[in-house]
Amino acid sequence: MTERFDILVVGAGPAGAAAAACAAESGRSVGLVDDNPSAGGQIWRSGGHLPEQAQTWLARLQGSTVTRLQGWRVVDCPAPQVLRAEKTGGTERDGYCADFGYKTLILATGARERFLPFPGWTLPNVMGAGGLDAMVRGGLPVAGKRIVVAGTGPLLLAVAAHLAERGAQIAAVCEQAGMARLVRFATRMMSEPGKLWQGAGYSMRMGPGRLKMGCWPVAARGDDRLRVVTLRQGAKQRDVECDYLGCGFHLVPNTEMPAMLGCQLADGFVVTDAMMRTTVTQVYCAGEPTGIGGVDLSLLEGQIAGFAAAGHVAQAQELARRRQTRLGFVRALEQVCALDPQLRKLAAEETIVCRCEDVRFGALRHRANWREAKLHTRCGMGPCQGRICGAATEFLFGWGADSVRPPVFPARVSSLANLPGGSADADTRFVAAGALSEHSKETA
Ligand SMILES: Cc1cc2nc3c(=O)[nH]c(=O)nc-3n(C[C@H](O)[C@H](O)[C@H](O)COP(=O)(O)OP(=O)(O)OC[C@H]3O[C@@H](n4cnc5c(N)ncnc54)[C@H](O)[C@@H]3O)c2cc1C
Repeated sequence: MTERFDILVVGAGPAGAAAAACAAESGRSVGLVDDNPSAGGQIWRSGGHLPEQAQTWLARLQGSTVTRLQGWRVVDCPAPQVLRAEKTGGTERDGYCADFGYKTLILATGARERFLPFPGWTLPNVMGAGGLDAMVRGGLPVAGKRIVVAGTGPLLLAVAAHLAERGAQIAAVCEQAGMARLVRFATRMMSEPGKLWQGAGYSMRMGPGRLKMGCWPVAARGDDRLRVVTLRQGAKQRDVECDYLGCGFHLVPNTEMPAMLGCQLADGFVVTDAMMRTTVTQVYCAGEPTGIGGVDLSLLEGQIAGFAAAGHVAQAQELARRRQTRLGFVRALEQVCALDPQLRKLAAEETIVCRCEDVRFGALRHRANWREAKLHTRCGMGPCQGRICGAATEFLFGWGADSVRPPVFPARVSSLANLPGGSADADTRFVAAGALSEHSKETA
């Protein structure tokens, strides 16, 4: 074992950063593992100009005694109260792993975008809305480029506003929810005027008339890359020329790790009590795996988990009361982002659903369940391990996910067997879920 902590936090987004800082300030030894080279999660890790809230929390983390384990991806739990992580970002030959022990674990693994397949969605320059934003933050120039942003959820407006700031021409922002649903959402959100103003501010930055409600892409066309997106709004259909399409249908929580550890899930989210305790003893969960509620809620949950795990229950209880008032936003967001059943008709027979294994809609639609689809078509068995097509097939066919087995991310044989890096041969360097779980257990 490389190191052992009183409290180990997985995920250095807003929730994990807050949890780690609060736990360390309470005098515990804390480790913070994240698979990215820098802390901050989806919203803050790209650097550049960060909002004051981000600067405050990242400085607090920096000034704490937290052991920062950046660039480590947790893939397995080889023994009770031990997690195995693989070093990320190096070359294949540099691969190695380490085991981190803990008395208490806080999972803050965030969420990912949901993609729905439609003809042309695999063309170059069609990407997730958050993914496109991350590429722009990472240096992709978009000044003068025509961009369509589509899907559902508040992320669309945030992304479009940011792209417009970088000089992109926003051709349209297409939200699948209809106007009536948006009005109901806004009425419910009167108690959170800050969020309403934020949304209004984003709309103004994109320019007038760009937001289309009850609208979504039905096809993307191009040669070497995207050239035209066909949008449908009600009975009308129109073609829009563009350079990029950023398309994401809200977020899917990253629950693989909590599921691997045996935490109970309900409706796809991790079940916790008010102190962010999961159903597994000494395992807490904070942030988006417990419900999609934005950065402020993730920060609150992280603080509650950090204080509660460190034994500072009074502080955690005070914050838990504040959290309770914000849970209405999570429910309102779920309702406004509920997918229109018509989106199930987007994919054609030949549309790829599993892009890792090139499995098409026609090969899947007669399958009974996810397991049968995997066995007969290899759907979900590629490098992303169903992280993309799993959420899509759940919506398209109502399939539930399989049980989760380690490794939760594809990992090198040498890592799983805890051998020195580079000792596995070329054909067996990467292993997908379940394939080595027994072996991994034996060698632990
Ligand atoms: C472009 C963009 C703009 C946004 N704008 C806003 C906004 O204006 N307002 C707002 O409220 N919200 C916004 N959001 C949403 C906001 O980012 C999230 O609500 C917030 O980041 C959630 O924080 P979190 O800590 O729960 O998860 P995340 O920020 O997702 O952090 C989770 C971290 O865990 C890591 N991780 C996961 N699994 C493992 C593993 N097995 N091993 C190691 N590390 C792992 C991930 O890589 C990630 O770094 C935006 C999101 C995006 C993408």
